[in-house]
Amino acid sequence: MATNLQTPIDYLKGVGPNRADLLRKELGIHTYQDLINLFPNRYLDRTTYFKINQLQRNSAEVQVIGKITKFQEIAQKRGKRLVATFQDETGTMELVWFRGQKWIRESLKLNTPYVIFGKTNWFNGKFNMPHPEAELLKEHEKNLRSSMQAIYPSTEKLSNKGITNRVMTKIMQNLFLETNGRFVETLSNNLLSELKLISKSDALFNVHFPKNSELLYKAQFRLKFEELFYIQLQLILKNLIHKTKIKGFPFDSIGTHFNSFYKNNLPFELTNAQKRVLKEIRYDLGQNAQMNRLLQGDVGSGKTIVALMSMLMAVDNGFQACLMAPTEILSVQHYNGLNELCNNLNIKIKLLTGSSKTSERKIIHEMLENGELDILIGTHALIEDKVKFKNLGLAVIDEQHRFGVAQRSKLWKKNNLPPHVLVMTATPIPRTLAMSVYGDLDISVIDELPPGRKAIKTVHRYDSNRLKVFRFVRDEITKGRQVYIVYPLIQESSQMDYKDLMDGYESIARDFPAPEYQISIVHGKMKPADKEFEMQRFIKGQTQIMVATTVIEVGVNVPNASVMIIESAERFGLSQLHQLRGRVGRGAEQSFCILMTSHKLSENSKTRLETMVRTNDGFEIAEVDLRLRGPGDIMGTQQSGVLNLRIADIVKDNDILQHARFYAKQTLKNDPSLRLPEHAVILETYRQMSKYKNIWNYIS
Ligand code: ADP
Ligand code: MG
Repeated sequence: MATNLQTPIDYLKGVGPNRADLLRKELGIHTYQDLINLFPNRYLDRTTYFKINQLQRNSAEVQVIGKITKFQEIAQKRGKRLVATFQDETGTMELVWFRGQKWIRESLKLNTPYVIFGKTNWFNGKFNMPHPEAELLKEHEKNLRSSMQAIYPSTEKLSNKGITNRVMTKIMQNLFLETNGRFVETLSNNLLSELKLISKSDALFNVHFPKNSELLYKAQFRLKFEELFYIQLQLILKNLIHKTKIKGFPFDSIGTHFNSFYKNNLPFELTNAQKRVLKEIRYDLGQNAQMNRLLQGDVGSGKTIVALMSMLMAVDNGFQACLMAPTEILSVQHYNGLNELCNNLNIKIKLLTGSSKTSERKIIHEMLENGELDILIGTHALIEDKVKFKNLGLAVIDEQHRFGVAQRSKLWKKNNLPPHVLVMTATPIPRTLAMSVYGDLDISVIDELPPGRKAIKTVHRYDSNRLKVFRFVRDEITKGRQVYIVYPLIQESSQMDYKDLMDGYESIARDFPAPEYQISIVHGKMKPADKEFEMQRFIKGQTQIMVATTVIEVGVNVPNASVMIIESAERFGLSQLHQLRGRVGRGAEQSFCILMTSHKLSENSKTRLETMVRTNDGFEIAEVDLRLRGPGDIMGTQQSGVLNLRIADIVKDNDILQHARFYAKQTLKNDPSLRLPEHAVILETYRQMSKYKNIWNYIS
């Protein structure tokens, strides 16, 4: 009989209650199944041995054969360290322990051949190896050695408590012995043969104990495919369920508001991309199912008008719509902009934010409930429980990645039927990431900017060139342009950052003296009224220079501003730089973005700056950002669970992801409930995963 993989890890030979406890706490390993799915981080060649005189600085882990000739205890600032002199026929090195010295001292024998394994450092003209793994040569020779020795994820606590990589490997060996290395197949025969995948048992064996590099590659490919396949299957199923089970309001007709807006109010011709996206949305809204769509588009690609026209479709069909934005500044801007666009249309629009007065709130609540209000715009305030709609038909969420999934679903609870949902991103999200994080949404992309935009010219300048930069600024101001100078404010509370900002402001005030030049300043510590006052002075053209922190990152729209100077640009992330740059290039004039930095730049900062200078394409920038930062950082902690992959890497395994999505779609296309005999394996695996919650780790 096959071993039950749900057996608690305590029962495995070589584990026992203490180690089981550690494995649970440190690595989340509860069962045999969890252990088998603990995949190595990397592999090391354990068939090669170094001589001490062959050691290199900056090398990876090495193994050396030699003898300990003496121990020494050396006092240091806190406690003491144990140092062993280790020697082979070519030289000597030191082994160092900062912890567990008593035990080490008693268990290691002098003048006996050992194999030591670990990372070496170069210190005081000698190589040393801190906390090496040491094994008697005699024992070492008995073990199976591989040129691809699995190295498992570990923690400090695990290695302190003696669960070294060697122990992990031993435990893993026991698991394979106990199960005879036979594991239930989890992919269908069709998939296995079509993709030429190796069996589950072969894959698991070779990922832990690779026979050769070709089999290791095949094992990894199969397991990565499987992991991504089931995630995609889950996401696509969720999407299908939405479409079939969750009824939505069908918007049958295109009505008077939409048509008269299109004829009389549309201030420009829509781009082809906007038209295409509107068609996609229009199609969804006409279905008897809830729309769940992500609208991707670069800064300035014209997502707002698409949102508005979608909301008009709702209104024309007798429904209410809402538009939710992440900040108050942005909500106000949407409110003003949309009111202006809807001029002369008989539509009621209101604004609800954290600073709406109680009396105003009361009116809004009433108008919402009796159906008088057509469109509500605002911040998180929209999803408070008190806010009840008569019949919310469409919810648009701007700048989605600042909202969690939980907040999205809170909107759905405002009706007995869920409203259609359109989610818009502030800056593009790489395709792979969108597919994994928003795989349950349909995706529309605006991949074209409105015509006539002049590409913003971006340059990188060192602080030492500031005089030249300021001369350029003076010329632009003389031509009638306006200029942003932005300082980093990484932490709202950081006094240092404020000092930088104020110092900067003072030196700019010296270089651009009144009355010839007027300067606005805006930062997060100012009262909202003062901020607004300074903003208005700049918007009206009373000031030529706006010194600010990133509070202007989203939402400010001053077409006459054509120069964006970003101070200490190396301290900003790529998407922030791209958002900031998006504040210029909104008018008819040629715009410029100047990235100022010191000469001291990390490789990572250099790449960011080079990317900004090279391209204006938000999608390209997003790809670089993903490579530099990894998915977790980009999406924020809220959604990082989605990316908790065991073996696949969302950036590097993009191709496999595309395959997995394709095959998941194909599997479900003809057999959405996985009833066909050839899909029995998939259905069973999927059930098991949901049952044991493995897959739910990925999806919040
Ligand atoms: P984003 O996608 O960043 O939200 P917006 O919707 O704010 O972009 O649009 C940016 C600017 O482009 C706005 O001033 C808007 O009026 C203008 N715009 C949008 N679509 C078009 C178009 N088809 N032709 C010309 N200008 C457009
Ligand atoms: Mg926008």
